[in-house]
Amino acid sequence: MGGETKIQKPEFLKDRSIPTGGMFVAQRTLKSKISCKGVALHSGDKVVMTLKPAACGAGIVFRRTDIAGGGAFIPASWDRVVDTRMCTVLGNEDGVTVGTVEHLMAALAGCRIDNALIEINGPEVPIMDGSSAPFVFLVECAGVQEQDEPRRFIRIEKPISIRDGFRTATLSPADGFSLSFEIDFDNQAISHQTISLGLAKGSFKKELARARTFGFLHDAEKLRAAGLARGGSLDNAIIISGGRILNEGGLRFDDEFVRHKALDAVGDLYLAGAPVIGRFDGICSGHDANNKVLQALFADPGAWSYDVLGSDEADVTAADAWSGEAVPSAAALA
Ligand SMILES: [Zn+2]
Repeated sequence: MGGETKIQKPEFLKDRSIPTGGMFVAQRTLKSKISCKGVALHSGDKVVMTLKPAACGAGIVFRRTDIAGGGAFIPASWDRVVDTRMCTVLGNEDGVTVGTVEHLMAALAGCRIDNALIEINGPEVPIMDGSSAPFVFLVECAGVQEQDEPRRFIRIEKPISIRDGFRTATLSPADGFSLSFEIDFDNQAISHQTISLGLAKGSFKKELARARTFGFLHDAEKLRAAGLARGGSLDNAIIISGGRILNEGGLRFDDEFVRHKALDAVGDLYLAGAPVIGRFDGICSGHDANNKVLQALFADPGAWSYDVLGSDEADVTAADAWSGEAVPSAAALA
């Protein structure tokens, strides 16, 4: 059994008692580098992406290999989000951006990767099949390496909520990581769906990773006319026309739509820079609200704190967050 390493108590914990005799859940990176090729959703270009190991404390950092020098680096952080209209786009002070990061970030969260360098030869993460599953597969192929420093968590200390009309996104204190999501579309293929994930024993891979992004045919046509979604196809999204799903194989889950929205929230929340110990509740929210709730959290120093987990806490808290069972039920949101 890995995941624990004996280390000095870090500076940010000097005033806290650690219950475990100094054994902590450790940071993790990739064991080796691994690459994939895919289509960029908006440009339609073929791109190559390589995931590489990174040192303790490095976090997740993107590097645009088509751009020379230090301006090519973009940290995967909530305060680097520059656009949330179509997907989550990160940018640096030189105006260099990387978009559609959320499904990759969700996979890195789900696989518990703290540190990695993500190299891409263009401004978009490849869309792959529209889900996180291909990225989970990549991480599994590369392997995971335990590192020598404790994994840092962000513990939610008080509720923080964002409201935009009927859309809300809320973070609140909880012992582990859990989330609920609710969507309500005026379309019979989607309609009203809810999901509640109690994430103590189970897996991101099993419950969320395979859920694909979705869109409406009439929107896709408009986007294409505007030069966007050029790479979009039935191979990388669920496409709905009228009340019908056009994909030949149908859905991967009956409630694949709400599962994908939960996946997006996991990816967007991982831009906090560390896994959250707390609960996320989203109602019809998207990338914009997911980012705004992090902005509101970090604007309030009393709303959160850094924490590490002792090895004996790992099973019952967010150390192994992606081990939960999905309980799709309207009652869960009541
Ligand atoms: Zn998505």
